[in-house]
Amino acid sequence: MKKFCEYHSTKPAYWNCPKCGSYFCPDCIVTRRKGGVLKNENIHLCPKCNVETSWVGVANIIEPFWTRLPKFFTYPLSLQPLALITILSIVGLILSKLSIIGFLLKIVLWGILFKYSFSALKATAHGDLTPPGITSETISEDFMQVFKQIAIYIIIGFVFASLVPSAGIIVAVLFLIFALFYVPAIIILLVTTNSLFHAVNPVVFTRLAFRIGRGYFLMYFFLILLGSAPAVLGQYIMKFLPTELFQLFFGFAKNYYTIISYHLMGYVILQYHEEIGYQVDYEDFKESAVKEIEEDESTNILNRVNIMIKDGKLDDAISFIKDTTKTRPITDITLSERYLNLLLMKKRKPEMLKHCITHLDLLAHKNTKSKACELYAKCLAMNREFIPTSFALFKIGGWLNETGKIKEAIRTYNRLTKAFPDDALVPKAYYRCAQIFHDRLMDPSRAKKILSALIKKYPEHEIIPQAKNYLNHLGI
Ligand SMILES: [Zn+2]
Ligand SMILES: [Zn+2]
Repeated sequence: MKKFCEYHSTKPAYWNCPKCGSYFCPDCIVTRRKGGVLKNENIHLCPKCNVETSWVGVANIIEPFWTRLPKFFTYPLSLQPLALITILSIVGLILSKLSIIGFLLKIVLWGILFKYSFSALKATAHGDLTPPGITSETISEDFMQVFKQIAIYIIIGFVFASLVPSAGIIVAVLFLIFALFYVPAIIILLVTTNSLFHAVNPVVFTRLAFRIGRGYFLMYFFLILLGSAPAVLGQYIMKFLPTELFQLFFGFAKNYYTIISYHLMGYVILQYHEEIGYQVDYEDFKESAVKEIEEDESTNILNRVNIMIKDGKLDDAISFIKDTTKTRPITDITLSERYLNLLLMKKRKPEMLKHCITHLDLLAHKNTKSKACELYAKCLAMNREFIPTSFALFKIGGWLNETGKIKEAIRTYNRLTKAFPDDALVPKAYYRCAQIFHDRLMDPSRAKKILSALIKKYPEHEIIPQAKNYLNHLGI
């Protein structure tokens, strides 16, 4: 039965905790890098127990093959396989003009296509649902695999030929039907065991087909459709195309459908890997639809916090954030906001005010104007002595001025200059105040006073030339 995430009832589970038995999706799991030699590998920890979880297996994640048929047809639609199919069809057409040598060379082309299809099958069975690239490995190396497949047909043909005289044509034909039905099972065994001897053992391949069950019949049905599709298509369009173009098209369609058939067999291995006894590791599983899992620290903390919140353990969530961010302050705005809301919900005022310093600084850096101004006002209402960072004060002062809250803006700049007298932003805050007094409050004499004091007190600051200029402009 398909397993779903404990916290997301519609998301298939990827991991299972051996301690608490819970299932988790990638959004809920905690991902960490392994140390030492294995530092490029990830471990996946239970967000509740912090113990290593085991992968549920690919069968739980992927959809059954009969619901994703359109995707099988688009599988070869990628530059490299398309180029291979096209080249093989064109060269095949040219070779068919040559007599016996052409025929022999066509067998080589046929072998290349089968080698590539076989590589596609293997990649798919490993969990990689993208077509393999064209490399020596995928089209020429280890050509034995192709010979082993040919051997399957030779063996079937040989048994058939020897049955005709000894047991009669009816028995021989029945054998042929029986054998052809099991060819996909034999090919699957060839991939998973790499042993021809093992693959052609009737006990082994019939058992495999039965273990897959109904899915095997369905796959066989689709394989027959795929196998006969080029011929059906060919008959239909033969009338409209000149002979050569038709041959080219027919060759192309045959190659295209061969790759799809092998991909389908690979997918069946993937889907039934548990029944077949084939190991598929999480690290090898690759599907474009599945997003890469980030192993960023704040995401991990956030995942665990979300779970604690869903379980109603708000105090635990608060202590957890506090502990994990003790040495490294929070830099993730989502995590920071979650922490703030938790403290608000639990009415933990002193901790909340303390965290607001961090949160306001993050909001100021992100230029989240209204949120920052609102929160600042809220903090002041709770405690008149509340002081955020100098940067946040400077930004908020500017935003208050923009929104017409002039007096509050001046008050904010004043708090900055008083609380952080040595801060590099102080001269700028004075300059801004002077501007407000002149432009907004129509009080040029106050503006002049501030500017003169500023020039006297911070003669080296970068804003001084600007301040002098402004003072001259005021006309004294
Ligand atoms: Zn657990
Ligand atoms: Zn989840």
